[in-house]
Amino acid sequence: MSVLVVGSIGLDTVKTPIEEHADLLGGSASYAAVGASFFTKVNLVGIVGDDFPKTHVGYFQSRNIDLTGMQIAQGKTFRWSGEYHWDMNTRTTRSTDLNVFEHFTPTLPAGYNETPYVLLANIAPALQSHVLDQMQKPKFIIADTMNLWIDIAKNDLLALLKRVDMLILNDSEARELTGETSLIKAGSAIRKLGPKYVAIKKGEHGCLLFGENMFFSCGAYPLEDIHDPTGAGDTFAGGLAGYLASRDDSEITFEQLRKAVVYGSVLASYNVEAFSLERMRSLTIQDVEERYQMFKLMSHFEVLE
Ligand code: AMP
Repeated sequence: MSVLVVGSIGLDTVKTPIEEHADLLGGSASYAAVGASFFTKVNLVGIVGDDFPKTHVGYFQSRNIDLTGMQIAQGKTFRWSGEYHWDMNTRTTRSTDLNVFEHFTPTLPAGYNETPYVLLANIAPALQSHVLDQMQKPKFIIADTMNLWIDIAKNDLLALLKRVDMLILNDSEARELTGETSLIKAGSAIRKLGPKYVAIKKGEHGCLLFGENMFFSCGAYPLEDIHDPTGAGDTFAGGLAGYLASRDDSEITFEQLRKAVVYGSVLASYNVEAFSLERMRSLTIQDVEERYQMFKLMSHFEVLE
């Protein structure tokens, strides 16, 4: 089954303590769509300007990503620039130029409204809701968000949460949204706002998954070198959604979500090994399966006698 991904598609300039690269393919939907494409067909909804390089369009197409829902508007593509600090975990946004993104209305082309899985990657919650308004009856809806929307569009975000099955956010966002310092309390508090499942990402420390009386803690792959953490969260969400959609029509259980979280973590761990989406270009599903097995080996332990 396919996944509908909506979010930003942009050109990023990223600086780390070691390197700086400009005009890279970026945006929450780009990372999420490519992540999901390792498992299933993707319908991409977003907007780019007429300066968006054709090579990026060709790359999406090569990944079996349908671009009927990608609007090409007159003007400049969304641009974002960020700088990472020494820990490679925290960053400062240097600039955000919305450009054609400023007047974006995500309108679904014919047929997209029947896509069974929906991943609302990071964009304004009102736009995420607008996508849901157009959907027929999706099987599973996942939303991602960021601190910006908790700060400036909290009511829109709270309205959206009532309509989604799962929310993905990072630790500081979960604390900010709920006012809880404990992530365990925050996970439960977010579930009370609507989503049946919540995944709280902890950067290099892995991820926590919450369901009804269910909890799963997934570690992170121990990478020696992180070159560019940009899009790790979006790739995680894409891998998670793509894996869920790739299964047969069976019900989504907590067991399935545990697997999905590990697949998401595997894809994110590959993505940070190079700038932009460069590592994804040479990645194969065999590489993904191999690292999935490594995750299993590294997390396994025997019960003491
Ligand atoms: P992440 O590292 O997961 O936070 O995602 C980084 C990506 O989000 C970059 O490729 C940016 O182009 C994109 N991005 C940054 N700010 C925004 C925003 N306000 N709305 C949508 N996408 C954004």
